[in-house]
Amino acid sequence: MTKGGRVNEETTEQAGKDLWYKDGLAFSCSMCGNCCTGPPGAVWFEEDEGRRMAARLSMEYPSFLKTFARRINGRLSLRERHTRFGYDCVFLDRESKPGKAFCSLYETRPSQCRTWPFWSENLESKDAWDEARQRTPCPGMDSDKAQAFVPIERILAQLEESREAERRAADPDW
Ligand code: SF4
Ligand code: SF4
Repeated sequence: MTKGGRVNEETTEQAGKDLWYKDGLAFSCSMCGNCCTGPPGAVWFEEDEGRRMAARLSMEYPSFLKTFARRINGRLSLRERHTRFGYDCVFLDRESKPGKAFCSLYETRPSQCRTWPFWSENLESKDAWDEARQRTPCPGMDSDKAQAFVPIERILAQLEESREAERRAADPDW
């Protein structure tokens, strides 16, 4: 499930023509909200990301942390709410658009969310991709919508962003 997911540092420096997704992938979010709920999990963010979310909400950063964040094993995560759907991220909006569940902080959502589903653990193989699509479940993955095509260049950029977020999280000097 996206919320609790971690980017796998073990993935090799995959680039170029041998990648199973070299011809691109299909992804178009349908705003189902599945990747922002489910079993208890974490939505990791870094301080700079937290400050951007706080500014978006016109809040002071300490107040933002107190209201919307928690620490898990020393790392910052957004809080979640227990709803009839599962453990929703505190910023998942199920009210504003009937039939939709979407991120109320979409433009300032953390890297973990921005880079879904192009995480190294999902891109390791076609089987891993299929498993993530089914487990979430994420109807946006392999979407047949015309605008869903994501070229290899964008996939690799997203992959790199997700891995950079993990590197920063692992760096005690950050
Ligand atoms: S599970 Fe997939 S389709 Fe649903 S909100 Fe998340 S990214 Fe969008
Ligand atoms: S910050 Fe937004 S995209 Fe990320 S888990 Fe929460 S609601 Fe979903």
